[in-house]
Amino acid sequence: MPFADIVGHRGAVALLASAVARGSLPPSLLLTGDDGVGKRTVALAVAQAINCAAPRSGTGRDQGVDLAADACGRCGPCARIGRDAFPDVRTLVPGETGTIAIDAVRAAIEQAGYRPFEGRRRVVVIDQADRLLPPAQNALLKVLEEPPAACQFLLVTSRPDVLLDTVRSRCPRIRFGQLAPEEVVRILTASHGWDEAAARASAAAAGGSVGRALAAASGEHAAAREAAVSLLESTAAARTPRARIEAAKTLASRSGGRRAPAADRDALRLRLEALASLLRDMEVIASRAGAPLANDDLGDGLRRLARAYRDGRGLRAFAAVDEAAAAVARNASPKIVADWLACRL
Ligand SMILES: [Zn+2]
Repeated sequence: MPFADIVGHRGAVALLASAVARGSLPPSLLLTGDDGVGKRTVALAVAQAINCAAPRSGTGRDQGVDLAADACGRCGPCARIGRDAFPDVRTLVPGETGTIAIDAVRAAIEQAGYRPFEGRRRVVVIDQADRLLPPAQNALLKVLEEPPAACQFLLVTSRPDVLLDTVRSRCPRIRFGQLAPEEVVRILTASHGWDEAAARASAAAAGGSVGRALAAASGEHAAAREAAVSLLESTAAARTPRARIEAAKTLASRSGGRRAPAADRDALRLRLEALASLLRDMEVIASRAGAPLANDDLGDGLRRLARAYRDGRGLRAFAAVDEAAAAVARNASPKIVADWLACRL
C-alpha cells in the first residue's frame, strides 16, 4: 500500500517518505507503537517506495501532507511486495514456536550481503522483532553494525524494551501513536469489509488499534458459534418445553459483560448467524452433496448434530432462525426471540 493510502500516522509517514526521497533512510530502523496500529503496513510501504517501478512524489495532499516519495501501488514490484512474493523484500515473522527462527535470520542476513535481484534495495522486515531470542539478536547485531550498502532493515515491535540494548541503540526509532476511532473505522470498512455500524461499535472499544478490533471480533465470533453449538445440542436432546426454554438461555445470555440493550441484540445477531451457518453445514452433510463446510473444524460434533436434525427438521430450524434474525432486526426483545426460537429448533 502506498504511503498516501495509509490511514493515520501522517508525521511518521511524511518523515519516512522524505528520507526515501533523499536516499537518507538509516540502514536499520525500529518501528515501535501499540499492536495493530499499522506499523508493518508502513514497513511494507517503505519497501514499495524503495522498489516501485513508477515512483511518485507529491502524494498525500488530500490528507494534508506532501509526500516527497511514494510507491504507485500498481506496478509489478508493488503488487508482488504486497503479496510477499518479491525476491528482494523478505518479512520474518514468528513461527509455531512463537519465536523467530535463528535460521531464518541467518538466511536473511546472508542474502542482505548480495546485490538486489531485481529491485533497487533489499528490504528485510522483522515483524514482532521482540520474538527474536538473544542468539538471533546477536546474529543480527553484526549486520546492524556494518550494514551492507544495498539493504534496509526494518524492525517492527510493540515491545522494544525486550530487545537487547545493543540492537536498540543501532536502530533509530520511529514511534507510532494510536489511531483515532475515526481512522480505525476507515480501515475496518475500507480494508476489512466491515459495515459502518459494526466498525463504529468496535472502534470505540479498540483503543486506537485495528488489530484489537479484529481480534475482539474473531473472539466474539468464536464465542457465538460455541453458544450456537451448545443450543443445538441441548434442543436435539430436549424432551420438554421447559428444557427448551432452559436451552434458550445460552442464546440470549449477555456477551462480554456489555450491558446496553443494543449490545445484547448484537450478541444475539452473531449467534443467529452462527446457527444459520451450522444448519447450512448440517444440510450439506445430510444431502451428501460433498460441498465444502464452513465449520469443518467441528468434525464429528457437526456430523452428530446433522443426524439429530435430519428428515426436514434442519430445514425447519433454518427457516425459524431466519425469522428470528428478522425479528431482531425489528428490535424485538432478545429474550423473547431466543425463547421462541428454542421452541422451534
Ligand atoms: Zn509501484
